[in-house]
Amino acid sequence: MAKQELNRRQFLKSGVIAVGALAAVGAGVGYLQKVTTENRINQKFLRPPGSIDEKDFIYACIKCGLCIQICPVQAIKFAGIKEGLAYGTPYIDARKQACDLSCDSIQCVETCPTAALYFVPFKNAGEKAIEKYDKTHRADPNYNPFPVQILAMKKQVKMGLAKVNEKTCLAVLGKGFKGIPRGKDFKGINRSPYGDSPKATPLRDKQYDAKICDVCVKECPMGEEAIVMGVHTNPDGTTGYKPDVLDGCVGCGVCVMVCPTAEPSIIVEPVNT
Ligand code: SF4
Ligand code: SF4
Ligand code: SF4
Repeated sequence: MAKQELNRRQFLKSGVIAVGALAAVGAGVGYLQKVTTENRINQKFLRPPGSIDEKDFIYACIKCGLCIQICPVQAIKFAGIKEGLAYGTPYIDARKQACDLSCDSIQCVETCPTAALYFVPFKNAGEKAIEKYDKTHRADPNYNPFPVQILAMKKQVKMGLAKVNEKTCLAVLGKGFKGIPRGKDFKGINRSPYGDSPKATPLRDKQYDAKICDVCVKECPMGEEAIVMGVHTNPDGTTGYKPDVLDGCVGCGVCVMVCPTAEPSIIVEPVNT
């Protein structure tokens, strides 16, 4: 009888310990998730196009790497082990290689199996553009709605918004730029069909000789809907310049990649932050 009582007590004790341990593990995981999510948001990670809100993205992304594999300019990287639960999620380091929006169909979003990169708005925008184009171009012997569709889809991208650092921007300082924007050893490419670079062109193959630096404006894949060189009159009567970022900026980061100053004089602030 005493032995039975002892077994019962031992059983209850083990149960309490097991429940306690599970609760501690649960609380630990919850804490880690919270801290990881907050850290990710604080770090202002630039996610690939179409990424859903950061706090949901971390759980929706299954870290399959398909978006990374399919990107033709290899702009998307895996987050490293120090990122906690966000380890393995995709991000873009625009200074090294921006998303130049040069692929055929926002392929990373299209390929994502979990809708962590959400394709529906892109698909809808593309279909709507074709519908409109059809009405006016059906009889055209060179009928080709594809570029119209792709451009409409690209306009849906909203990774972030570019912001100029007026303290270091060469144009704001009234300076020009002559040479290769990031030097001859830089490996980044910009092959956007909407800018001046219809082919996969390493940045090191491009030469600039601008009296007032306008590299970011020239290389922007979204053109003058996204960034223009603003001209104004300074208080002393001289002409001043400043790249003006407009509503059409999609946050692709090409301007960050191409800016020739030692630290980029233009950054992209991710939308999720
Ligand atoms: S394809 Fe989607 S689920 Fe896979 S790593 Fe990229 S974002 Fe995550
Ligand atoms: S490329 Fe850089 S330095 Fe040149 S105008 Fe743009 S932000 Fe300024
Ligand atoms: S200004 Fe142009 S190049 Fe820079 S992030 Fe916006 S869309 Fe991209």
